[in-house]
Amino acid sequence: MLVRMHEILDEAYERGYGVGAFNLLSMEAVKGALRAAEALQLPIILQLAEVQLNDSPLELMIPMFLDAARRASVKVAVHYDHGLTFGNILKAIKLGCTSVMFDGASEPFEDNVRKTAEIAKIAHAFGADCEAELGTVGSEGQESLLSAGMFTDPAQALDFSERTECDFLAVAVGNVHGNYAAEPALQTDLIEQISGSVKKPLVLHGGSGISDAEFRKAISCGIAKINVCTAILNETNSRVKKLAEKKFKYSELSNVLEEAACSTIKRHMSVFSNR
Ligand SMILES: [Zn+2]
Repeated sequence: MLVRMHEILDEAYERGYGVGAFNLLSMEAVKGALRAAEALQLPIILQLAEVQLNDSPLELMIPMFLDAARRASVKVAVHYDHGLTFGNILKAIKLGCTSVMFDGASEPFEDNVRKTAEIAKIAHAFGADCEAELGTVGSEGQESLLSAGMFTDPAQALDFSERTECDFLAVAVGNVHGNYAAEPALQTDLIEQISGSVKKPLVLHGGSGISDAEFRKAISCGIAKINVCTAILNETNSRVKKLAEKKFKYSELSNVLEEAACSTIKRHMSVFSNR
């Protein structure tokens, strides 16, 4: 069933488990994601990021996410990830996303506060939730460049959270997007401090390549939503590569796309939920 994201995340945050939010770029990936969630009987978040819209247009993908969510036997939230422009965020809300993220982390603090507060207000008026980001989540290959100054500051996070009225906060705690060069060491003490001060579900971006133990530790410290994108793409790429070694039918390709998403998502959901 389709639900608002806070319905899923508030419960996860209180009970101390994590919920996977998976970026899905095709119909097959959506089918695989729903199959994984229903097999495990766990809530799931289907999402799409603004940088992915060239390949997977919002107008085609969101109605499909919503339809899949309504048919599902588990709780499903439909989220617009890393919204960068006001126009696209508004479009996502109007299409029916049950939450949107505004990514103003690269902007000066006061600009991030002002824009996030405005988007949170609009999202709430339409019955949707708002995720925001504070601190610098690095990009692939940048982990050695991450310094303490880029991490989310707990006191600033509280100020930000109160002034913006965002529902969930994405944090920078040693995590990076894409592939990690070496297994990352998350700043779990920092997660605990931010959670203690903000008291809202926290979001971990860059969830591809973190060890099971690190995931569990981060969740126990206050992470409720974990974004996973690259792990699905990596699995898809390697399976497609193998398939392409011989002549194949379209139905086989379709099956590979669905299976790659399903198996990757199942594996992550099991770790996040402690099952
Ligand atoms: Zn992200």
